[in-house]
Amino acid sequence: MKLYRTELESGFKNKQIILSSNSLKLEKVNEKIHCELSSDKGSSGYRVFGAIISKINLLCDRCLVNYDNDLSAKLDVMLTNNEEIINEMSSDVIRFMGSDDFVDITKILRDIILLEEPVKKICSQDCKGLCSSCGLNLNNDQCKCKKIESTQNLKELEKLIN
Ligand SMILES: [Zn+2]
Ligand SMILES: [Zn+2]
Repeated sequence: MKLYRTELESGFKNKQIILSSNSLKLEKVNEKIHCELSSDKGSSGYRVFGAIISKINLLCDRCLVNYDNDLSAKLDVMLTNNEEIINEMSSDVIRFMGSDDFVDITKILRDIILLEEPVKKICSQDCKGLCSSCGLNLNNDQCKCKKIESTQNLKELEKLIN
């Protein structure tokens, strides 16, 4: 996604941009990516900030079924040709030289979205998961395995983890 110097120079506020997940090479993001971006002109460059909203498709850790999860991320980057700021090596700084007509923020958008992928993926707080004996998805069905036994096993497993 390109931001042009002319638009940064005049500035924008709550600009709505819709990106396809394909253009960002995000396979897990299965919907269009909505961005609402604003810009500020400062003495050493431009600040671009706003919100990114989409949905991400994840695999539940408990029941191993795919589900959609809301994704919302914040963008806050500095576009600058100030070497001092660039050398601070912050990930939120993009080099934008005086001779450049535009700057491409695709990569940083992609990185920000990837960071939003949760470490723990649970389709719902009360996901029952799979039966530890027969592997049946207990959200849809009840299996014939002895329940008491499996909950005890689960409790012991939890003890081991904690
Ligand atoms: Zn689940
Ligand atoms: Zn079972």
